[in-house]
Amino acid sequence: MHFVSTRGQSLPVSAARAIVSGLAPDGGLYTPESFPSLSILEITALLPLGYTDRAAYVMSLFLSEDFSYDTLREFTSQAYGFNKFGAQPCPVSALSGGMHVLELWHGPTCAFKDMALQMLPRLMLGSQKNVGEEGTALILTATSGDTGKAALEAFANIPGTEILVFYPKDGTSRMQALQMVTQEGDNVGVFSVLGNFDDAQTAVKTLFTDEEVRGALRSHGRFFSSANSINLGRLLPQVAYYVSAYCDMVSAGSLDMGQEIDICVPTGNFGNILAALFARTMGLPVRKLLCASNQNDVLTEFLQTGRYNARRPFFTTSSPSMDILISSNLERALFHLSHNQPDFVRDCMSTLGKEGHYELSSERLDVFRSVFHADTVDADQTLATIADVFAREHYLLDPHTAVAFCVAERYRAARNSDRPMLICSTASPFKFSDAVLQALSLVAPDDEFEKMRLLSEHTGQPIPKPLAELQSKPVRFTQSLARDELKKAVDQFLSK
Ligand SMILES: *Cc1c(COP(=O)(O)O)cnc(C)c1O
Repeated sequence: MHFVSTRGQSLPVSAARAIVSGLAPDGGLYTPESFPSLSILEITALLPLGYTDRAAYVMSLFLSEDFSYDTLREFTSQAYGFNKFGAQPCPVSALSGGMHVLELWHGPTCAFKDMALQMLPRLMLGSQKNVGEEGTALILTATSGDTGKAALEAFANIPGTEILVFYPKDGTSRMQALQMVTQEGDNVGVFSVLGNFDDAQTAVKTLFTDEEVRGALRSHGRFFSSANSINLGRLLPQVAYYVSAYCDMVSAGSLDMGQEIDICVPTGNFGNILAALFARTMGLPVRKLLCASNQNDVLTEFLQTGRYNARRPFFTTSSPSMDILISSNLERALFHLSHNQPDFVRDCMSTLGKEGHYELSSERLDVFRSVFHADTVDADQTLATIADVFAREHYLLDPHTAVAFCVAERYRAARNSDRPMLICSTASPFKFSDAVLQALSLVAPDDEFEKMRLLSEHTGQPIPKPLAELQSKPVRFTQSLARDELKKAVDQFLSK
């Protein structure tokens, strides 16, 4: 199977090459040229299997030329093992009225990024071997919160890799910063950068392309790599959990095999919902994909009107991982839904770069609208949804998941639909105790651990172990950098 650039000016490559490269040389994203099919018969055969087998099977449909099923099976059992995810990596909870919640936060950092990032080091090292890339991969990551910690957990103590994470000094929640600065492992480094997320991201990009630094790396037997969400190696593990969730719903008696469901995803960079589009394209019985946004409603406007306009005010919300104005992975949807027309994608991306917006023709918009529904949820509605679902179902949502839940309920009410709905739950509510306590009308104590204890007492839900354990972990990283000091950090790291 070949992977092509969405912008059409780079040669098609193998999956291994796409995973090692991250971005295509023409600036596009590598994506499948065509999709493997997944028949009802094949889905039925997955029913009796556990998550690690199902995930290995789904990924092998894309990766079989580079990795055997057995190798992928080894990767998935390492990535989703009991020590990392407990007994069920991503269980589905059935609520009333055909609402189902796919819990993607049972991994080591309590957010859905673990599902992809725990697989990435394995896919990356295997791909390096396949393409003959030698040396140690030095992963650079700028993070606004969840990605940094998930990448640290994924790469810590993995031989042949090192990872440096840069987070904005005042741009993450206290819990998120604490998760990062207490990270264990000999091959990790964590730095705060003075400024906001964009400053940190720009500084990392500059470092990435600095020829002097790249030369120094080579002489130390290393090369730069990235754990960014545009990497094919992060996308494919996400396709698997949609297929697995469908199987779980059938096994639980919520569905007949072959019956259609809707899927609702709290969306930021468009990676998670794109994986759902891949699953649908392959043949998973899915009718609509619901794209849920917070006040940063650039995707809602786009999917409703065809106009993508990144020049708009930016809001800081209670669902920070969705506070995004440029959703990188949307580029892959533009490519696939235009039936592989790279010229069209290139036009859109160049207009976006130059003018901050682009617009779809009404024919193209119709294609998007036949697949996607989009809606926006504001701050009050997010909190009201958390309170309401807890009161009715005794089920606790984090603010990201609450945005999706609200969109799903509105969609079904407006259409009188009782089609089974699968809602992606992307974070543990304990990761966002402040907002959840507020939603439940509880006064939040100052201390992060007191907050979690209060939430746990009030709701009867256990505090996830990885979050509770942070309290006794020593802080290992305290260094703060100015924007132009990242080079220094790399030098220090290399001469260790
Ligand atoms: C990253 C993230 C999202 C957004 O996912 P995308 O794939 O970027 O659309 C939603 N919720 C949480 C908790 C996240 O960490």
